Amino acid sequence: MLQKWHVFMLYTSVLPVASASKHRAQPCVALAAALPGLVIFPNSTLYDTHNFYWSERQSNLSPSCFVAPNTAQDVSTAVKVLTRHNAPFTVKGGGHTPFEGASSIEDGVTITLASLTDITVSADRKTVSVGAGNRWINVSEALDPLGLAVVGGRSATVGVSGLTLGGGISYFSGTRGWACDNVRNYEIVLASGEIVNASPVTNRDLFWALRGGGGTNFGIVTRFDLAAHEQGDLWASSLIWPGSVNTTLIPLLHDLLVRNLVADPAAHLYFILVNDASLGGYAVVSDQFHSTHANISPPAVFSPFHDVPALSVNTRIANVSRLSRDIEQAFGGRTTWWDTTVAATASPNLLLDIVPLFEAHVTRLRAAAEPVNSTMTPFMVFQPITLNILQAMQVNGGNALGLKPEDGPIMIVQVNVMWSSPLLDAAVEESCGRLIREIDTLAAERGARSKNGYIYMNYAGRPQDVYAGYGLESLARLRKTARKWDPNGEFRKLWKGYFKL
Ligand SMILES: Cc1cc2nc3c(=O)[nH]c(=O)nc-3n(C[C@H](O)[C@H](O)[C@H](O)COP(=O)(O)OP(=O)(O)OC[C@H]3O[C@@H](n4cnc5c(N)ncnc54)[C@H](O)[C@@H]3O)c2cc1C
Repeated sequence: MLQKWHVFMLYTSVLPVASASKHRAQPCVALAAALPGLVIFPNSTLYDTHNFYWSERQSNLSPSCFVAPNTAQDVSTAVKVLTRHNAPFTVKGGGHTPFEGASSIEDGVTITLASLTDITVSADRKTVSVGAGNRWINVSEALDPLGLAVVGGRSATVGVSGLTLGGGISYFSGTRGWACDNVRNYEIVLASGEIVNASPVTNRDLFWALRGGGGTNFGIVTRFDLAAHEQGDLWASSLIWPGSVNTTLIPLLHDLLVRNLVADPAAHLYFILVNDASLGGYAVVSDQFHSTHANISPPAVFSPFHDVPALSVNTRIANVSRLSRDIEQAFGGRTTWWDTTVAATASPNLLLDIVPLFEAHVTRLRAAAEPVNSTMTPFMVFQPITLNILQAMQVNGGNALGLKPEDGPIMIVQVNVMWSSPLLDAAVEESCGRLIREIDTLAAERGARSKNGYIYMNYAGRPQDVYAGYGLESLARLRKTARKWDPNGEFRKLWKGYFKL
């Protein structure tokens, strides 16, 4: 009786005024009938809680309702209702994609996985089963006290789902590859509503496709069974230098890419050029990690960086949870992320010559920001994909990214911008696209285009053709797998946003 009343209240609360909104609300009403108590309608605090994303551009969209399944069976029911109603929808994992519509939707249904938060460690400590609604901080807070870790995200509130489905760069990637290379099994709801598992022994084609191929073309993953490893505290150091020393630091970064990270694969870093008023203009920032080094003094692999006088240095030995909170980036504001990759060259000149292209982009953005009085913080982030990482990606039949050791090492060049005025959205996207094209052109001129022009999905801008960068062979295999597991193309048609095969 209570349930009926609840459904009635939901129904009346969305009783549409105009026929267009009636049409949009219908799938929500049907969902509320099929999953009583799990559908959240607008004009409620709970709706606002779910409609909160890392990037304001995602929060700006308003779905007709959210559905928050408690189990894989609930996800299956939701998928069946949505496909029966031919209803557009999206899926929110951690909601960290910067661009609007990636895991948010206007006038459609958002399936939020926020209630799928189980975390279970197997008796032999080798596998951690993680519900798809978890953030990485939930995982590390469960594992740190046990002396265990998984190859997962580095930042606390990023979602397990999106990060793992698109690849997943981790503190431990030098020895173990990316997050997707360390999934033992996926539990996934197909377009038919069927719940299946995918592993090296079950549904192997689907297992391969989910390893970096993204989720949105195949199904809604409800549980990731992740390989766990014994892990104590890590060494970490966060450094900030004045921008002027980038010409000293970039050659050191180049040495890491081609040699030093291979010699010491327990080391890991990212390296950022940023232009921000609070830093007095240009600065270089690097977060460095080492998963086995136990002394506070820098490991040899990073010593050359520590010899360059810095504005600030924060070195600590800490567990994954603390580090992932330390590097967390605040929610809110407008953001965009784009990326490309370049192949390593014999000298650091290619990386050095990318800097003036970034500086021209900064000048364009500053000129656009001034008249509308907007904040503007452009970043360029370098993240090495070294030979040891590429080798670790080949286990269990390899992943879907199309990257092979013989094509490496390569460097991810990521272009991020944070700003405040929506008036600048188009100008920022335009400038990022131009910068990426200029980097690609420069790399091509130097014979350093990475094979297939690989673009890391999890950092890509909306207009970027991510799957083309996986190469023809991988792309054909992904398309075949998507057609096999979703023969009627329901997800390709109804699951809006993000990258489509
Ligand atoms: C502050 C910050 C730090 C980051 N740090 C890292 C890092 O250390 N390493 C790294 O590799 N990347 C990192 N990223 C990038 C990150 O991997 C991507 O943004 C990723 O998509 C986030 O996953 P999510 O679940 O939070 O995103 P969402 O936006 O919720 O999801 C991304 C896409 O996956 C789909 N999806 C979500 N859940 C599922 C599911 N269960 N099944 C099928 N499809 C699903 C969504 O519909 C959406 O299209 C970071 C991003 C941010 C903003």
